[in-house]
Amino acid sequence: MQWPRIFRVDYGHQEAETKFGKDPRTYEVLTKRFVGDENGNVKGLEVVHVRWEKDETGKFQFKEIEGSEEIIEADLVLLAMGFLGPESTIAEKLGVEQDNRSNFKADYGRFSTNVDGVFAAGDCRRGQSLVVWAISEGRQAASKVDSYLTKEDQNIDGNQDEFVQRQHETQQQAPGQQQTHSDDLGRLFVFSRS
Ligand SMILES: Cc1cc2nc3c(=O)[nH]c(=O)nc-3n(C[C@H](O)[C@H](O)[C@H](O)COP(=O)(O)OP(=O)(O)OC[C@H]3O[C@@H](n4cnc5c(N)ncnc54)[C@H](O)[C@@H]3O)c2cc1C
Repeated sequence: MQWPRIFRVDYGHQEAETKFGKDPRTYEVLTKRFVGDENGNVKGLEVVHVRWEKDETGKFQFKEIEGSEEIIEADLVLLAMGFLGPESTIAEKLGVEQDNRSNFKADYGRFSTNVDGVFAAGDCRRGQSLVVWAISEGRQAASKVDSYLTKEDQNIDGNQDEFVQRQHETQQQAPGQQQTHSDDLGRLFVFSRS
């Protein structure tokens, strides 16, 4: 995926830079509070600059840079927020292991977590992603839950099950090749490598 790794400058950004003297985008800042006027209208945001640092577990955390607070004036604030990870309440209550990005730990293709009978799929498992992945994982996970409940997939928490095994085989095949496989329930799986 290229988009998180490139600094894209579109004509709108260039236009703003020409008019205001600098690229209006500001990175690595944390909003501390909204600043309002006496009538409750927003006047700006107080932000502080942050630095990304690894903590003792190797996980990136941001640290506020002391003295870097500033006010950005604003008449209108639009929130465009991303996703940091699932809330940890459920994981803590159920004892579900989380990966180093705080997502629920469950292998793709199997979707079972370390807790028997608890499955994870979509953004809470893979991190922020796309609707198509959420739908695809949701369907696959539902199938795994079905197998678990009907006890068809006895080795769900054991060694690689058939689906994961097939996916592994797909990694080995030449690009463009396609493998199809139907299971005991008549479900058809198509595995291809591009
Ligand atoms: C601002 C924004 C813009 C996006 N734009 C796009 C886009 O243009 N195209 C695209 O493909 N993707 C986009 N995405 C990503 C897409 O929305 C997600 O990948 C997708 O919604 C993930 O689906 P999900 O079912 O895994 O999780 P979610 O859609 O987050 O669903 C999780 C659900 O669980 C519920 N929940 C959480 N905790 C509990 C609890 N304790 N008990 C009960 N329910 C709970 C939540 O309320 C929520 O309804 C965007 C995401 C954001 C944040």
